[in-house]
Amino acid sequence: MGRRPLDRIPTTPLDKILEDPKIINASVGGKNQLDSLIENAPPIRRTEDVVVPAPKRRGRPPKSAVKSAEAGDRKTKPTPAPSTPNSESVASGLKIAFLGGLGEVGKNLTLYEYGEDMLLVDCGLAFPDQDMPGVDLVIPDFSYIARNADKIRGVVITHGHEDHIGSLPYLLKEFKFPVFATRLTIGLIKGKLREHGLHHTADLNEVEAGQTVFLGNFQVEYIHINHSIPDAVSLAIHTPEGVVIQTGDFKIDSTPIDGDMIDLARFAELGKKGVLALLSDSTNAERPGYTQSERIVGESFETLFRRAEGRRLIVASFASNIHRVQQIIDVASSLGRKVALSGRSLENVVSISSELGYLNVPENTLVPLDVARNYPDEKLVIITTGSQGEPMSALARMAFSEHRKIEIRTTDCVIISATPIPGNEKTVGRVINELMKKGAEVVYEKMYDVHVSGHACQEELKLIIGLTKPKYFIPVHGELKHLRKHAALAYAMGMPKERVLIAENGAVVHMSAKSFGLGNPVPAGRVFVDGFGVGDVGSIVLRDRKLLAQDGIMVLSMTVNSAAYELISGPEVFTRGFVYVKEAEELIEAARRTAAHVFNLCVSNNMIEMQAIKGKIRDTVGQLLFERTKRTPMILPVIMEV
Ligand SMILES: [Zn+2]
Ligand SMILES: [Zn+2]
Repeated sequence: MGRRPLDRIPTTPLDKILEDPKIINASVGGKNQLDSLIENAPPIRRTEDVVVPAPKRRGRPPKSAVKSAEAGDRKTKPTPAPSTPNSESVASGLKIAFLGGLGEVGKNLTLYEYGEDMLLVDCGLAFPDQDMPGVDLVIPDFSYIARNADKIRGVVITHGHEDHIGSLPYLLKEFKFPVFATRLTIGLIKGKLREHGLHHTADLNEVEAGQTVFLGNFQVEYIHINHSIPDAVSLAIHTPEGVVIQTGDFKIDSTPIDGDMIDLARFAELGKKGVLALLSDSTNAERPGYTQSERIVGESFETLFRRAEGRRLIVASFASNIHRVQQIIDVASSLGRKVALSGRSLENVVSISSELGYLNVPENTLVPLDVARNYPDEKLVIITTGSQGEPMSALARMAFSEHRKIEIRTTDCVIISATPIPGNEKTVGRVINELMKKGAEVVYEKMYDVHVSGHACQEELKLIIGLTKPKYFIPVHGELKHLRKHAALAYAMGMPKERVLIAENGAVVHMSAKSFGLGNPVPAGRVFVDGFGVGDVGSIVLRDRKLLAQDGIMVLSMTVNSAAYELISGPEVFTRGFVYVKEAEELIEAARRTAAHVFNLCVSNNMIEMQAIKGKIRDTVGQLLFERTKRTPMILPVIMEV
């Protein structure tokens, strides 16, 4: 299928724009319509006049009236936002700032800058690890974005996984940027924004693979790829310096569940014309060979489901793995089993994706979990969240007999259809052990092909490098070891070392046809979300939490006469998490006496500044406790003056 080169991209005549409801909606924000249309060109255009058929999806509703733009000349095309790069900024070329996603698998956020225009790619979150007690989520630092908010033309999203869309509500709470994503991704984003009360104000624009979004100096082309969620895309970002391909998360699946194979032809075409830089997914860079097709999991399900005849099946998977959920539903319904869902995120994803036609659920197959017990075991499959052993997840609650609706029985067959993310092996192992203790049969990855990865392995990664033939290469989406391994693959293919860059969060890469290197870094730390608080929990709060968790706390409370500096009452001693008080009465009494003694000593030495007295009490009592227990609880003297 011939594609029109980008430098001959057509412009939409004004009358065509006025006819097209989608374009009007996308460009008019309550202003005078005509002015606004002239100022703001339609942001979405096709790169070609031959329409690439959308991936065939079962039950997908007919496309709404999104018309493609036609003939014209790009030079005359007005841009959505004024962009007048001065000679100085042009000379500095293209800059790519990494605000997240390097040295970690999570909170992906990349910023492209050229002249007066900026563009964001993805806006994900990360989950806290063990050294962040009480933290719910980790989001990127938006301070560089805040400093440049007037330059940012839009946010383009590669796919609907949490590590790519999870921080959008926090971003859109502060800034009104337009967001561009494919249909399912928009659906999942909307669900997130609804939870934050932002769905009415957000400017969300649907794009499909093959289309291009015009954002100032950038033209962002969406390319169809395969991943563990439908409607995932790679981006070819056309800039005045050249084309940068950001693969997003991808794999090469020649027999995907949802239609077409990755558009390798387009990668090759771009490679032939010349690619300035490739930013590619490093998640599986350590794994040799090819990633297996998602379809193989369906075959394993078929075998296992048949083998479990007469017994209840419980399958744990990632909520967002819609292909996996589809295959479970398909096999279940072919064997005459009903399907029940356990876990809120799973229910949300299933309802959004079946509403949009990405999940095909045969009639009368889904039953509410409440009535699942009315069906005999051999007629039921329960799909559940918790494949990572998360303590509050549905599967963990089943394993530890804390689930209100499901009790594990000796006849159950539990399939864990996921691999533990590095760091989660222990929690997954605990859940498996607990399920086994209850007598259930547990099947996990190593035993059958009940999981395949959504990310490319070494041979696939090399193929993408080979097809795109980039001038520069930056491995992204991975811990340092993954990035290094990915770089090594590029070296092995003959890529000169000076054209490959392993960067970290905060790095700003400058590139042009002639130069490639690092500039001054920008802020790109972690921002913790705890309850309603965003960013208020910092390293000091975390240090205190860890201290409290390790050795507990002792509060020494006393009342003093502010005129005579005499103890009126106390010290009273309270402890939490330090010692079992009933068995440590002597120690508590020693602490009490020491605190009183230190207070009196201070006063008799004319040391009457309360902060100083508290400090002395803290030090002396701390020393006593350490000598007696080798523990260092947090010590909090409270002195009330009356
Ligand atoms: Zn992903
Ligand atoms: Zn990802």
